[in-house]
Amino acid sequence: MAARILRGAPVAEVIHRELMPDIEALAARSIRPCLAVLRVGENPGDIAYERGLLKKASALHIDVKSVALPASVSQETLAAEIDALNASAGVHGILVFRPLPPHIDGGFLRAGIAGEKDIDGVTNVSLAGVFAGDGAGRGFPPCTARACVEVLDRCGVSCEGRRAVVIGRSLVAGKPAAMLLLARNSTVTLCHRKTPNLAAVCREADILVAAAGCPGLVTGDFLSAGQTVIDVGINVNACGVISGDVDFEAAASIVNAVTPVPGGVGTVTSSVLLRHVVEAAARQTGAA
Ligand code: NAD
Repeated sequence: MAARILRGAPVAEVIHRELMPDIEALAARSIRPCLAVLRVGENPGDIAYERGLLKKASALHIDVKSVALPASVSQETLAAEIDALNASAGVHGILVFRPLPPHIDGGFLRAGIAGEKDIDGVTNVSLAGVFAGDGAGRGFPPCTARACVEVLDRCGVSCEGRRAVVIGRSLVAGKPAAMLLLARNSTVTLCHRKTPNLAAVCREADILVAAAGCPGLVTGDFLSAGQTVIDVGINVNACGVISGDVDFEAAASIVNAVTPVPGGVGTVTSSVLLRHVVEAAARQTGAA
């Protein structure tokens, strides 16, 4: 039987619809949510993402302030730019594209971005919320991880009591996705490059989240009937063609439901980000 295709666009639309009353309530108080996007260098992927974000934000009456710095920027200058955005009352959320160039210690963002403006779950404040559950009302979970569970929640896939397997243990995607699944009472296995018998572990999953950044890693051998597969991977080949971590054709013929790439989790991630900006604006202006 052909799998159900879990497309991101309808999920994103519902998120946008739910956001409108909050945006209107802020507008009634003359507050327009504002996201600052800070890009270092000219990574085409970052530029394309920023372009898409600008379009979505504009449709939702959310302002975006773009700051572009050269790849050679010093850590001191970058930190000063972030400090200025932290101090700006008109900016409610800050997104810094990662990875940063190798001469910059990416770890400094964990304390460098103000917790209340950390709409992409980078800071210690946000990570405490995800990993220790003590960040209520401060910070936000990483948008990619939250997008995975938004797709599950909004497509009616129950996580409770299900076996979830996550491939990838980055702080951006795999680890926080595992925590959000755990918070939904899944029994979670977190896999990585050193996991033996990866295919066999994945076959046992009810919910499989692939966040390895490895095109075609998840072949039919990793899959079994009844599974829901969330493909986080965004891999661009030499011809500019985008694919996920999952062999989509194989998945579509084996599992119960699968997200496409493009058009799956990535579409939801930017909507989650904008939702965080609106929530941050409401918190910072006393409306939440
Ligand atoms: P990363 O390189 O930081 O982490 C990848 C993780 O996958 C590592 O923990 C590594 O151990 C694991 N891994 C890699 N190859 C593996 C293999 N062959 N077997 C088992 N484990 C393996 O990457 P990331 O930042 O977490 O991103 C992962 C993917 O998600 C990338 O394709 C990235 O482009 C994509 N991504 C998508 C979105 C979205 O919105 N859909 C957002 C961010 C990142």
